[in-house]
Amino acid sequence: MMPTLQAVIGLEIHVQLSCATKMFCSCPNRPGDEPNRNTCPICLWLPGNLPRFSAEALEKATLACLALNCRIQKESAFDQKVYYYPDLPKGYQLSQFHRPLARNGWLDIVQEDETLQRIRIQKIHMEEDVARLVHEKEGKTTVSLVDFNRAGTPLVEIVTEPDLRTPADAMEFLRTLRMQLRYSQCSTCSMEQGTMRVDANVSVRPSGSNVLNAKVEIKNMNSIRHVGDAVAHEIRRQESLAMSKEPIVTHTRLWDPEARITSPMREKFEGPCVPDPSVPPIVISEKWLREMIRNMPEMPGLKAERYMNRHGLTREEALQMSAERNVSCYFESALDHQAPPRLAAQWIAAQLPPLLKDREETLENTPLDPQRFAGLLLMLEREEINANAAREVLRKLCESTASPAEIVVQCGCRQVSEADELEALVDRVILENASAVENFRQGASKALGFLMGRAMQASGGKANPRLLKELMTSKLKGDGQ
Ligand SMILES: [Zn+2]
Repeated sequence: MMPTLQAVIGLEIHVQLSCATKMFCSCPNRPGDEPNRNTCPICLWLPGNLPRFSAEALEKATLACLALNCRIQKESAFDQKVYYYPDLPKGYQLSQFHRPLARNGWLDIVQEDETLQRIRIQKIHMEEDVARLVHEKEGKTTVSLVDFNRAGTPLVEIVTEPDLRTPADAMEFLRTLRMQLRYSQCSTCSMEQGTMRVDANVSVRPSGSNVLNAKVEIKNMNSIRHVGDAVAHEIRRQESLAMSKEPIVTHTRLWDPEARITSPMREKFEGPCVPDPSVPPIVISEKWLREMIRNMPEMPGLKAERYMNRHGLTREEALQMSAERNVSCYFESALDHQAPPRLAAQWIAAQLPPLLKDREETLENTPLDPQRFAGLLLMLEREEINANAAREVLRKLCESTASPAEIVVQCGCRQVSEADELEALVDRVILENASAVENFRQGASKALGFLMGRAMQASGGKANPRLLKELMTSKLKGDGQ
């Protein structure tokens, strides 16, 4: 009988750093501009021009390393990774092969059974990106054009140890990595826009074994979901090869998201990696590194713990409020204006996203500032308005600069909590809906919802729902008057 097989997965992630300029010249780092607009003799790789290493690229790369718990190396250096291809006419790419910027990092991921698993990161190195090839039809022939806007843009490559075992874990690792990197603001990490690109190395072995078998590298995945699908497909393919005792050889495959299969790709010729003499080694001082560490923002894991311990959020609420930096900024700013924490978390998670989407706004540019948002939630908590009215006021807050209290006055939606007024309302509804009242008394609990709805409607949506329900229940269960 065949032993059960286990997948061994490692990832290589290229992340484009959010720098103003390219890595070795002062051209703008905007690959999406009109083709070949952002170029100069250095990044066109014309002979006789020396690269000038960007301090900002080193800063952003260091942020990436710190966000992934890596050990920054005191000294690192660039090599020439030699190969020839039309997207690299100088014949080599500047990359840190022998002496990377950082080593020995890790990230903890939450597995499907909610246990934590530590995934080791082998190294992070800096490198320049190559130019982009654009293939177009001209009449009957296909021509390939070269766009140098991307040539020389700053990247880091993150290489994990082969610690991942399932496609789900690989996806969770990428989501966690993206969250950490976005927090440190070193990159936008958008797979859609190409600022994060992922290659996966997959092999299989008998469960319990420690050998590393021949691995297959998969390229061309442009979403985290595609990585999961491609890795799952590749595991199945290798398992069936192993079952029929066919050999698995090391090679590279492309993911075809339409056909949902991987297929072999022609490999680029890769030459040697030799030390580069044109860029001096990068030496990092203790003082500079201490300053970088001091300026790191609080990372989402610690933030979530703090939200639970100090503000009483549930784990799920805390994760929602800490996963994205802009969300946590908005949340914390609302708390600074005395918003009730759990209410704020629930409203930011559930009410704001659809509203902002409708208005094509983001948390950064919406006119709904955290101060007025907090004011609204306080009125809700003090039962000055009910949740329906609060949703209405929320919408109006986006359209004016008035305070929540002013808007509540304008729309006359202050909650009715006076017992006399509510009691009269309840009496009237009970009188007018005799059959529902009868149903309730026969044990149909749904009838209560119906009667509550009628009473709320009669109040113009302004009744305090808690008091209304108390009154309604006591009247219905009362002496049958
Ligand atoms: Zn340039």
